Amino acid sequence: MYFRDFDKETKKKNLELPSYTASRELNTVGGMAANNSGGEKNLKYGKTARYVEGLEVVLSDGQVHTLVSLEGEVLQKKLQEQSFEGELYRKVAALVGTPAHAKVIEKNKPQVEKNSSGYAVWDIGDGKTKLNLARLMVGAQGTLGIITKIHFKLVHPKPYASMAVIFVKNLSQLGELVPEVLKYQPDSFESYDDHTFSIAMKYLPELATQMKSGLLSLGISFLPELWMALTGGIPKLVLIVEFRGDTQAEALQKAQKLAGEVAHNKDHVSVRVAKTEAQARKYWAVRRESFNLLRKKVRGKRTAPFIDDFVVPPHTLPEFLPKLQKVMAEYPSLTYTIAGHVGDGNFHIIPLVDPNDPTIRTTIDELSHKVYDLVVQYHGSISGEHNDGLIRTPYVEKMFGPEMYGLFMEVKKIFDPQNIFNPGKKVGTTFSDALAKLDLPPQPSVKTQQGK
Ligand SMILES: Cc1cc2nc3c(=O)[nH]c(=O)nc-3n(C[C@H](O)[C@H](O)[C@H](O)COP(=O)(O)OP(=O)(O)OC[C@H]3O[C@@H](n4cnc5c(N)ncnc54)[C@H](O)[C@@H]3O)c2cc1C
Repeated sequence: MYFRDFDKETKKKNLELPSYTASRELNTVGGMAANNSGGEKNLKYGKTARYVEGLEVVLSDGQVHTLVSLEGEVLQKKLQEQSFEGELYRKVAALVGTPAHAKVIEKNKPQVEKNSSGYAVWDIGDGKTKLNLARLMVGAQGTLGIITKIHFKLVHPKPYASMAVIFVKNLSQLGELVPEVLKYQPDSFESYDDHTFSIAMKYLPELATQMKSGLLSLGISFLPELWMALTGGIPKLVLIVEFRGDTQAEALQKAQKLAGEVAHNKDHVSVRVAKTEAQARKYWAVRRESFNLLRKKVRGKRTAPFIDDFVVPPHTLPEFLPKLQKVMAEYPSLTYTIAGHVGDGNFHIIPLVDPNDPTIRTTIDELSHKVYDLVVQYHGSISGEHNDGLIRTPYVEKMFGPEMYGLFMEVKKIFDPQNIFNPGKKVGTTFSDALAKLDLPPQPSVKTQQGK
């Protein structure tokens, strides 16, 4: 079922699945559960896993099974059951319950709030008092079985929004700003960089078309930002902080309070408040559409999502972002924008590449290693919401270490001994396999950074 159809039905009852994505018009709820997707409301509402109460799945025995979180006596009964399901529960319980494994899991579990990489063995219970195989399936990217029904918990959306927009001139200010903003518990805390800002200004007519807005009125609405860019330079980063409420006044009060606190720091940042959802639309449009505009405008190039979804702890951003920009600057031929969910430390970089460039495979390999080495150094995740896929799977071991990766391979073997569900995703793909799978014209084999 498409999310867009699901959303229409739940909205009739004033309910919402708040983990919807930027791809909400295209994606299915099955894909959202399989990827453990998240989106602009993640900061307040978390990812899809939080809303899945139970699943109906087809497992490797070809039969339909119902998976929910089991505890206490019910779990004990299940563990004694002489059936395919009983066997599955026993094997997973043994895997996570073995003290040595429990230590490996505790030591190597993600240290960031937002993660879709690996199998969520740290979040399914200890196998003795609790075991939640539905949670294991969520985010497993269809590698353990096929989800055929989902029992979702929903929330009541708050109808009114206001936004504080913070223009940051110096990235070093982020260290102070991020915790200051998070203290106000916004519904969304997103960002885009100077490249994105420039592209939006350059392609204003196209942005207007995308927004179904008149060019003149959009141009006028952006005059303060244009004036700011002309007089003080383009901000390094724009932070958009949305607050929602049951009344407009409630939402506005929160945005104004934050803006007031941030504004005292005028030397480094400037702040605006978009009082209503309508006034905030242009900022959301830049955040959501600039990359698409760029993609459509640049001829002969295509998107290459290989470092598109990493996460680092938000407090490390002032140190991490300049290092990342330095790495990216080593590849001047790549056109890219950096936008993301700054509140979660989750960033999307999807460079445009020339598919006929003979060096592109080498660049993808080199850059992936450099970026993911940096992410791992800051105890981050290689994927916050898009999941591992074929291209990122070789880096799963880099992120979690060999012992945890060994447990992931065990999980896969328990559920899918014949390797029939999405083979090569999550486990079992080498660096050279991944490069060979890139959707690019064939080229002689590339020696990868890891030599395999
Ligand atoms: C422009 C753009 C923006 C995006 N923005 C976001 C975002 O904001 N947040 C985010 O989290 N993601 C985002 N994504 C990534 C992706 O669109 C989402 O994660 C989406 O929720 C995946 O759903 P889908 O239906 O497109 O799944 P697909 O891409 O079709 O499938 C995803 C994976 O899940 C498996 N799968 C699908 N259905 C099932 C099922 N029923 N049972 C078992 N396995 C299944 C597939 O085999 C595949 O491995 C974006 C992608 C694009 C192109």
